[in-house]
Amino acid sequence: MYDENNIFAKILKKEIPCNKIYEDEHSLFFNDINPQAKIHVLGIPKTQCVDYSDFISLSDPKIIVAFFQSVNLVIERLNIASKGYRIITNSGKDGGQEVPHFHIHILAGEKIGSLR
Ligand code: 5GP
Repeated sequence: MYDENNIFAKILKKEIPCNKIYEDEHSLFFNDINPQAKIHVLGIPKTQCVDYSDFISLSDPKIIVAFFQSVNLVIERLNIASKGYRIITNSGKDGGQEVPHFHIHILAGEKIGSLR
């Protein structure tokens, strides 16, 4: 069940501010408030979806493609493709998800440590 008052829903409704990197019809990208790397950008679709599985099962394939194309556009704009980056999405309790609106983390700008 989607919580319409989660933090990212409030950011989408402009009830709380964010440091925006990129926005289009289907997606919004902004800096993480507590960065875990020199570059730490969050990307969210504007669809109400809890996590990756929810996004994929709820969305028209065109929206899914549009979202991941926007991810790539942001990677190009950040100029991180040549040195590299990490994309992460957390889901649920075991995945360590804090905010229940599907989002991807783009981490870059320095060597990102091992996952464990
Ligand atoms: P999760 O653990 O759900 O994958 O990641 C949630 C992320 O959202 C965390 O990295 C956290 O720092 C970030 N975050 C939480 N609240 C806010 C906020 O109000 N603004 C921004 N820009 N990021 C937030």
